[in-house]
Amino acid sequence: MNFDLDPQLIDLRDRVAAFVRNEVIPAESKPFTPELVAELRGKARRAGIFGPQLPREYGGLGLGTIAMCVLFEQAGRSFLGPVALHCSAPDEGNMELLAHQATDEQRERWLRPLVEGKIRSCFAMTEPAPGAGSDPTMMTTRATRVDGGWEINGLKWFATGAEGAAFAVTIAVTDPDADRHHRATMFLVPTDTPGYRFVRNVPVMGEHGIGGHGEVEFTNVRVPDSAIVGKVGDGFRLALVRLGPARLTHCMRWMGIARRAIDIATDYAKQREAFGKKLTEHQSVQWMIADSEIELHASRLMVMQAAWAHEQGSEIRHESSICKVFVAEAVNRIIDRAVQMCGALGVSGDTPLEHFYREARAFRIYDGPSEVHRMVIARNVIKGKR
Ligand SMILES: Cc1cc2nc3c(=O)[nH]c(=O)nc-3n(C[C@H](O)[C@H](O)[C@H](O)COP(=O)(O)OP(=O)(O)OC[C@H]3O[C@@H](n4cnc5c(N)ncnc54)[C@H](O)[C@@H]3O)c2cc1C
Repeated sequence: MNFDLDPQLIDLRDRVAAFVRNEVIPAESKPFTPELVAELRGKARRAGIFGPQLPREYGGLGLGTIAMCVLFEQAGRSFLGPVALHCSAPDEGNMELLAHQATDEQRERWLRPLVEGKIRSCFAMTEPAPGAGSDPTMMTTRATRVDGGWEINGLKWFATGAEGAAFAVTIAVTDPDADRHHRATMFLVPTDTPGYRFVRNVPVMGEHGIGGHGEVEFTNVRVPDSAIVGKVGDGFRLALVRLGPARLTHCMRWMGIARRAIDIATDYAKQREAFGKKLTEHQSVQWMIADSEIELHASRLMVMQAAWAHEQGSEIRHESSICKVFVAEAVNRIIDRAVQMCGALGVSGDTPLEHFYREARAFRIYDGPSEVHRMVIARNVIKGKR
């Protein structure tokens, strides 16, 4: 592998870093409203950094996975950064899915307004017990054949961004008798379809963000065949096509938060004195800085390698599972150390660390809990696939 970055990418990286420093971080103290999002996106467009991952024909920069890795980390230094650049979850993963898997008609109807920021979307796979969770093949939401299309019934929850979304990328069982990997199909369900009901935002640790994490109910929701993404029975495969790269982009954005946490804690320790010397002169504090730096460096190399493999057209499920476990757990440790180094200030609202701490916990659960990824990684090794 060549670790050199193209000079144009370095320039873009530095421009994203400056934008986050000068425009985004100062906006963190403002209320998180659609108006703020529109204002930041306007500024990102004018700065020529909007939509790094979006296809050029849709107004994006059309960059590959390695470049995304570099830029998403910079954008990720603030939770508002990916929103401003229009590369935040779940829209980023849904746009990637639609760009590569949707029909021309679906792209015109959903992808274009999504890219332009005129609408939002959500991804509805997870269900309360006994339905789909860590094991999506336990899905209970059912789509049955009716004249002219399908009728969907079921309950989903934790669909990020569901409140106010224009459509839900929905996975439902279409053939309960098929083998468990071919039972489900992916549908694009307009949220104004009769029978679709946004029930509530599930209260979660951390901030809700725009659209929250919603519970949504489907009661006799009718959609035509043209709402299907890919083919009937392809739902779980397409969910993996979406989640593989989406796990990586989560890692990229979180590395930005980890970087900022290390920087905040190091700045504090350089100023603060205890027992006659700066905190940075105490060896156990130095070790915390070093351990965090080591884990961030290892995270970046892992994610870069997976991004490179993805760009070569390789299948990266194994690598993305490795990255997801390592980065999610490393980020949690890094933020925890940063809180510790800042003492009481670290748990106060006077730095963003307490917010990072609350948000980071869910990263070890969503897009597959660490235990499930460990199971998948171990299975691959045991079967001799690696
Ligand atoms: C903030 C947030 C945002 C989310 N956004 C979305 C979204 O947009 N769309 C969506 O569809 N879902 C979303 N989810 C749901 C998420 O993907 C699920 O929480 C996740 O897949 C785990 O499912 P579950 O919560 O039902 O856990 P369960 O399946 O109930 O598992 C509980 C625990 O059991 C353990 N476990 C499970 N399997 C194994 C195993 N094989 N070996 C050992 N231990 C195991 C793990 O520790 C796991 O955490 C979100 C969740 C959160 C918290």
